[in-house]
Amino acid sequence: MSIDLSRARAETPGCAHVTHFNNAGAALMPQPVLDAVMAHLELEARIGGYEAARQQDEAHEQVYDDIARLIGAQRDEIALFENSTRAWDMAFYSIPFKAGDRILTSAAEYASNFIAFLQLAKKAGVEITVVPNDEHGQISLSALRAAMDERVKLIALTHVPTNGGLVNPAEEVGAIAKEAGVLYLLDACQSVGQLPIDVEAIGCDFLSATGRKYLRGPRGTGFLYVSRRVLDRLEPAMLDLHAATWTHPDRYEIRQDARRFESWESSLAGRLGLGAAVRYALDWGLENIEERIVYLAERLRGALSALPGVTVHDQGLRRCGIVSFTVRGHEPLALRDALSAQGLNLSTSSMSSTRLDMEARQLEAILRASVHYYNTEAEIEALCGTLCAQLTKVPR
Ligand SMILES: *Cc1c(COP(=O)(O)O)cnc(C)c1O
Repeated sequence: MSIDLSRARAETPGCAHVTHFNNAGAALMPQPVLDAVMAHLELEARIGGYEAARQQDEAHEQVYDDIARLIGAQRDEIALFENSTRAWDMAFYSIPFKAGDRILTSAAEYASNFIAFLQLAKKAGVEITVVPNDEHGQISLSALRAAMDERVKLIALTHVPTNGGLVNPAEEVGAIAKEAGVLYLLDACQSVGQLPIDVEAIGCDFLSATGRKYLRGPRGTGFLYVSRRVLDRLEPAMLDLHAATWTHPDRYEIRQDARRFESWESSLAGRLGLGAAVRYALDWGLENIEERIVYLAERLRGALSALPGVTVHDQGLRRCGIVSFTVRGHEPLALRDALSAQGLNLSTSSMSSTRLDMEARQLEAILRASVHYYNTEAEIEALCGTLCAQLTKVPR
């Protein structure tokens, strides 16, 4: 195992203060990320925001190279955003849907994405088809194949859902999309930073991700990958003077690269922090990161399952660092708050974030303990011990 745990923890200031199992919400930033953000804010305060941007232009350009390296893309296929949702939206709303076009998606799709589908169904008359899961709880590849026809315009998949440890078979879905020649949009918000991602192997046309989750970047950052294969065919739903140039009084020209999806103003400090987070993850190695996360998550699932009244809900053939569970007779939110009061950070996920999946499994809400490579076996024991004490507490 190639993660130097003591180094990882020493470089994570938050480890001295909290036991952090909310990495699917926002992971703890490592020192190099914090340094990059703070240094740029200080530079802006000292010499001015525009002047600081000019001085850091090379470092800013480097962020595109680093993200491209992280996911096996080219730098001109990367656009930067303030979160994953806007990145996903800019891709989705650039697709020229017409009435009768079909969108195929899976039961684990994230609420914001599904709301966008519903909006397009209402406004443009597109048809939404939810491909059922297979017996493992991942998208059924045979059902997907069977659902394909000439009206399908887009396959939209969430790689790792917000509410569980499932990893959907993104590459196999990509092969089906490629064979049919339909667009493929992957929401990789929870998978980037916790497992190796190669957009060529996956075969997606778009991939969206956020900075603050498993990548350990600052909040308010995200990115979009747009394949060169589709780039010049898609006009963003919104354009500004960064995405396009006003070349004549009655004409504009759109940028050639993926930055046509961006807008001009952004947090340079955030972007430089995102770049630092990407380099930091690449330094550890995504294979190493995934190996340790999977090990810790399996260990946590085992420990939780041994507690009275606890049910672990994770599905999928391949699983990741998100551990979802419920405790009989206890509200997830109340347990989260009780654990938080003892320095244990967990989160919850409710029906409205992944409605189709939660309804199908009759789950109102779950507790979500999401591990990262800097977590320890001792922290897992502490979580289970505290949870156990909480459960056996005599109600007053
Ligand atoms: C968190 C999450 C998002 C939204 O990301 P933001 O950066 O908050 O916009 C999208 N999809 C999934 C699966 C998520 O877990």
